[in-house]
Amino acid sequence: MKTYKVYAISDGTVIDHIPATRALKVIDILGIENEGILTIGIGFSSKKMGKKDIIKIENKYLGKDETDKISLIAPDATINIIKNGTLKEKRRIERPDTYIDIVKCRNPNCITQSTGVKTKFRVVKSSPLTLRCHYCERTVEAGEVEIL
Ligand SMILES: [Zn+2]
Repeated sequence: MKTYKVYAISDGTVIDHIPATRALKVIDILGIENEGILTIGIGFSSKKMGKKDIIKIENKYLGKDETDKISLIAPDATINIIKNGTLKEKRRIERPDTYIDIVKCRNPNCITQSTGVKTKFRVVKSSPLTLRCHYCERTVEAGEVEIL
């Protein structure tokens, strides 16, 4: 049971290959701070990345909609779903074409600032990841987004 040793949880989700120091931001994006038992590892050595963070969430299986949000800040993260101590599913993060109700628009005159309208950003460039507000057309790079 190699998987069990590596991940040290028997049921839940492990988010691996998060860029170092971004683990807390990932938890923020997912809104899971009050769900299940979280174990956060910061600054692990990684052959691929130098340093990386890892998050383990016990007894919760994150769905694709949830994990795709992570693409904003950790596009190379991997999601591992563990059941009964065995790795059941391993998948990469996928980047959606549109982010709805995830990113805050920084334009103070944007309609999303003064009303309850959900923010909506389209991806207009992939490297560096750049998003454009559907309502006011202001663009923002992923590195400087404010998460709702
Ligand atoms: Zn806007």
